[in-house]
Amino acid sequence: QKNAKPVDYNAIINEAFQLFKNEKGGKNANYIPFLDKVDPDMYGIVLVTKEGQVYQVGETRYEFGIESIEKVFTLCMAMEIFGDSVILEKVGAAQTGLPFNSVPAIEQNGQKPSNPLVNAGAMATTSLLTSHFGHAEAWDKVNAYFGRFAGRPLTVLDELYKSEAATNEHNQAIAMLLKSYGYMYDDPLYACDFYTKQCSYGVTTRDLGIMAGTLANGGVNPVTKERLLKEAYIPRVLAIMGTTGLYETTGDWMYKVGLPSKSGVGGGIISVAPGRFAIAVFSPRLDKAGNSVRAQEAIRYISDKLAANVYLGK
Ligand code: GLU
Repeated sequence: QKNAKPVDYNAIINEAFQLFKNEKGGKNANYIPFLDKVDPDMYGIVLVTKEGQVYQVGETRYEFGIESIEKVFTLCMAMEIFGDSVILEKVGAAQTGLPFNSVPAIEQNGQKPSNPLVNAGAMATTSLLTSHFGHAEAWDKVNAYFGRFAGRPLTVLDELYKSEAATNEHNQAIAMLLKSYGYMYDDPLYACDFYTKQCSYGVTTRDLGIMAGTLANGGVNPVTKERLLKEAYIPRVLAIMGTTGLYETTGDWMYKVGLPSKSGVGGGIISVAPGRFAIAVFSPRLDKAGNSVRAQEAIRYISDKLAANVYLGK
């Protein structure tokens, strides 16, 4: 519509911020000691349009653990290097309906890691990258790619990494199991450690908004204008986010909100309205599945206001 009023993104994210400011539901992740200590009241919302405008409210410059959200960008990098059919064949794209670190999920899925957005699949994907680049270069390459998504160099929160590395026996066991099933493409404990380090990236809500904005903008970073992923791969990445991004509650999420999203136990959630904008919200208290309670509420509100549900086809 020619004379349509410009959308006031700023007003909408501020409304969402105010509406859920007093939400205290959920609890910080406590299985990683560092995350348990993060101030649970922190709250930030960022919306990035495909044109590269950045709207923000709250604690959007505070660095927290990216955690599972890193899986999306590891997937992007692997797809860019190996192509989409390799991902399907060597990792998979199945939804199991089980938690992100489920061992039965591997067994039920024909002893295959199911998809790149759960721990098993993420570690398998990481192992593809580390074996491709070699151990001497892998970190620099991955680090550079992540930094290009954020539009600034990212660094690992050392205390988080140490805290998680000291308590990640469960993920080590998954990596070893995958090795025995032929779905680990490098040394399993090396890949597990590399993955743990990736989960320990410190990101701000603003970083996540720009990273997700790249997915909303067909693979081009909306701020730096650099292409990071072939446009043809975007729907594949979003499809996996849309089936697994909020762990075992993704079905409910897609039913209620309809935006491909990814959450992390650090309290972040990113959501993508393809061809329009991305939203990133940070708030550490999680529901039982591991999704930030307040982030879900804020995103749902913003998405409804902007008729962003992908199934509306707008
Ligand atoms: N590093 C965390 C783990 O592997 C990530 C979990 C998540 O955010 O879902 O347990």
